Amino acid sequence: ATAATNADPKTAQQVLERVFGYATFRTGQQDVIDHIIEGRDTLVLLPTGGGKSLCYQIPAMVRNGTGIVVSPLISLMQDQVEQLHELGVSAAYLNSSLSGEAQQQIQQSMLQGEYDLVYVSPERLLQPYFQGLLQRMDIALFAIDEAHCVSHWGHDFRLDYRMLGQLKSRFPHIPVVGLTATADAATQADILLQLNLQEPFVFKGSFDRPNIRYRVMSKYKGFEQVADYVKQQDGNSGIIYCNSRAKVDDLYAKLHRTGVSCAAYHAGLDADEREHVQRRFLNDQTDIVVATVAFGMGINKSNVRFVVHHDVPRSVESYYQETGRAGRDGLEAEALLLFDEKDVARVKQWIDQGDKPERNQVELQKFAAMEAFAEAQTCRRQVLLNYFSEFSDKPCGNCDICLDPPKLIDGLIIGQKVLSCVLRLEQQAGTQYVIDVLRGKQLKRIFEAEHQHLSTYGIGKDESDSYWHNIINQLIHKGLLRVDLTAGAALRLTEAARPVLKGEVAVNVAVPRLSFKAEKKPRQA
Ligand code: ADP
Ligand code: ZN
Repeated sequence: ATAATNADPKTAQQVLERVFGYATFRTGQQDVIDHIIEGRDTLVLLPTGGGKSLCYQIPAMVRNGTGIVVSPLISLMQDQVEQLHELGVSAAYLNSSLSGEAQQQIQQSMLQGEYDLVYVSPERLLQPYFQGLLQRMDIALFAIDEAHCVSHWGHDFRLDYRMLGQLKSRFPHIPVVGLTATADAATQADILLQLNLQEPFVFKGSFDRPNIRYRVMSKYKGFEQVADYVKQQDGNSGIIYCNSRAKVDDLYAKLHRTGVSCAAYHAGLDADEREHVQRRFLNDQTDIVVATVAFGMGINKSNVRFVVHHDVPRSVESYYQETGRAGRDGLEAEALLLFDEKDVARVKQWIDQGDKPERNQVELQKFAAMEAFAEAQTCRRQVLLNYFSEFSDKPCGNCDICLDPPKLIDGLIIGQKVLSCVLRLEQQAGTQYVIDVLRGKQLKRIFEAEHQHLSTYGIGKDESDSYWHNIINQLIHKGLLRVDLTAGAALRLTEAARPVLKGEVAVNVAVPRLSFKAEKKPRQA
């Protein structure tokens, strides 16, 4: 609190009502705020939109002195400070976007105790000069926003966050508050360690986002699937994530060509261009952004109606963060993941090529959880919340599995058709070629290889390409086939395929879901 407000001490409840205009705290907020006011180190784990800001803003106003907030992005700082100014709170930010003169002035006011809250970047905070200033003033608390950036286990490690653990030794009596929307247990434990929190109070809220409908579709022709999907969206706002810059550029160009109005965003674009795309998106001038994960933190837009993952993310945390950008206004929103076994094999290969074996192990485990999510035949939300140690025993009713449960059928003959075709092709052919042969296509390359004489040529002609693609994916999930990336993504049989070919074991498959059932979609206001 500033010198002026200290004369008139307030309770947290009073600040909530008078400054922020809210009648009641949300679950957990009061408890967190009380502990911080008492001076306790605290870790707050709440999903995006959960109300983390109040958790440190109110204690900063109630406690004596200024709250110092560490935030990783200039745009986030500016937003927060603008909002506080609108509420009549005395706050400022210090970063490189300000002139030297402006910074001088703010530091002067800061020393005089004029602010309730000052936002700074982590590198600024740890500069010796700035530390000197801090030693000469009253500090209410240190708040570390996006605290997962301090951890290698998180999805967004930042080098300049690494030293923040020093705060606790330099200011042992000032409470340090970490806040994050990342909830997995390993990251949580690491944040406590890295920030050096002492007997911390940890609050973890529910990570469920009930208004987001989770869907997973087998990726067959990624571009066409995305194009169909966005055309059903009717001008709704959305983000399409790809896992590389090249894919972003490619998908963007193709969508553009088919008349979908959208923009592209990735770290390879210059800062002005990125800023431009971001601003137009925030202002509803651009409906759809095709992006890498660089389009992320700071996308504080409430009416994003859909998030599409064109490629499978590398961890459940990333997936949760990225899909979490949808539906922040609480209205219906959708998260669509396009999932392809070939992508899985590629991601595993990338991870394996990492230079730190120990780290690769962790990454592989994290990716395995993502894969399990995508392959789940049970409620997606249960799988997701389970991952964050939030167990729920009721299916959610708002995911693809709940809305349209998979129908299992006897898949022995179907499976044998595929497996024997793979075998006849000497395990040298990729998915599409196997499908071409199964369907008996009249293709030059088939004739050249004389594969039209194989006994399996044409035995699958009654079903579509996408049907067989889906079946092949299921056989891969079941461990009957694998993708060999060292041989041009050729399909190989596994040991488990032999008894299937001999008809010695039963195989169930889910009836492939090939079309995307359009459901009523909320329109953008
Ligand atoms: P986070 O930082 O966790 O993403 P914010 O702090 O931005 O979330 O809060 C999300 C929204 O919820 C904001 O508009 C905020 O004003 C609102 N909010 C927070 N706490 C309360 C409350 N107790 N009552 C009503 N609205 C609240
Ligand atoms: Zn469900």
